[in-house]
Amino acid sequence: MAGKKMTFEYRKGQEIKVRIIDIGMRGEGIGKLEDGYTVFIKDAVVGDYVRASIMKANKSYAYAHLDQILQASPHRVEPLCPVARQCGGCQLQALSYEQELVYKQNKVRADLIRIGGFPEEEIDAVMEPIVGMQDNPTGPWRYRNKAQVPVGKNSAGRIVAGFYAGRTHSIIPMADCMLGQEINKDIIDRVLTYMEIRNVPPYNEETGKGLIRHILIRSGKFSGQIMVCIVTNGDSLPYESDLVEHLQNIPGMTSIVLNVNKERTNVILGRKLRTLWGKDEIEDTLHVYDVTEDGAFVPAAEAVTFRISPLSFYQVNPEQTQKLYSLAMNYAHLTGKETVWDLYCGVGTISLFMARRAKKVCGVEIIPEAIENAKQNAARNGIENADFFVGKAEEVLPVYVQTRKAAGEDPDIDVICVDPPRKGCDSKCLETILEIRPERVVYVSCDPATLARDLRILADGGYELRKVQPVDQFGHTVHVETVCLLTHS
Ligand code: SAH
Repeated sequence: MAGKKMTFEYRKGQEIKVRIIDIGMRGEGIGKLEDGYTVFIKDAVVGDYVRASIMKANKSYAYAHLDQILQASPHRVEPLCPVARQCGGCQLQALSYEQELVYKQNKVRADLIRIGGFPEEEIDAVMEPIVGMQDNPTGPWRYRNKAQVPVGKNSAGRIVAGFYAGRTHSIIPMADCMLGQEINKDIIDRVLTYMEIRNVPPYNEETGKGLIRHILIRSGKFSGQIMVCIVTNGDSLPYESDLVEHLQNIPGMTSIVLNVNKERTNVILGRKLRTLWGKDEIEDTLHVYDVTEDGAFVPAAEAVTFRISPLSFYQVNPEQTQKLYSLAMNYAHLTGKETVWDLYCGVGTISLFMARRAKKVCGVEIIPEAIENAKQNAARNGIENADFFVGKAEEVLPVYVQTRKAAGEDPDIDVICVDPPRKGCDSKCLETILEIRPERVVYVSCDPATLARDLRILADGGYELRKVQPVDQFGHTVHVETVCLLTHS
């Protein structure tokens, strides 16, 4: 084949030596052999020089097994978690946190340039250094307010709660997860004790039989409240009062809820909820900062208290979320005169902070329970200038615009904030934003690749990218959050 660089065929079992130069999408090390052939090596860290054997070879790349670290990377650290390698939840625990932040910064930059097609100089002119977790009280650890743990049997037939090993169906018991709250381990142990005593079978993914599927724990960082939600493959559990008894005296426990999920799916939660003890929902309070010119976070007086259903989305890292929302507020540049639309609004978090500084806010969200929460949250915080709509952003917004236009009125929206899931915004949503032409668009993203794709569409539609600010919401994992500001040129 003309232009073919490869001179050598690589095959399974072959041994190679390679320097790791980059990090892949799942946190694996990436090395390049002399002829340009790419190898993906799990558990190899950027900077390592390793010996590996090829497991699966394709034309231009292969997956290889790490056999030996010949020269350890200067960025290599000892993971705090004893099961970091098997678990896979933290893909980057063996990399220093400092270097993890460098990686995340580069990832956002590279995606905006490569996928978004923005010139390097343009990105470098608007991109701020990532906001890390170094200064938080617990540093980059113990930040998660939510744990979702599958329950099953291990190979010896014992009931365990933990994580699926690799791509298998066997569950490895969870250690004290260093990203989550210390109390989680105790909660899980108590649920397992109840299951053993009362002979409650864990759910089996392969047969669809058994009862308990997942244990979901949510903790209010600032309220100190704890909610345990047991996901079951049935409408009830045997001896429910026993389960409650095991859990209710845990300090902070405010709510024990059953979620029914009888579907054979890997979606964790079903639609049906029944409270076994305490409140139906957990509450938490978030505070925001004033962000100074040079990017410092100065505590501000504003706080909003949120009520959150087990079915509603809520950011998992409250310390960093406060910074993220503060940046979004700062970018929205509200003076009290603006009409703001907050698309993908969840329980109304960003909407309600913005409502205090805007004339009017409208939030749109697909999950009905989250919108129910958003309305209650507005009321309990005394916020009267926020309206919430259930539906898809890409349907609710266009309908609103058409209705206004049909009545001979302008949509009259000054700021649009979007915070979509990983797949990004629907093209109809972006088209409608371009049709409305708000002065400012604030884009909060948890996936740099779809962010880059969507920013390109907005840029081609006449918007200028003004700010790009990565925020580390998910320390020790490969995930990166970014908040951006666009204004129309
Ligand atoms: N801004 C919120 C929620 C962000 S997560 C916060 O910070 O808490 C993204 C949210 O978008 C989730 O609540 C999800 O349920 C919702 N969602 C997903 N697809 C949607 C769509 N097409 N239209 C509107 N909301 C959607």
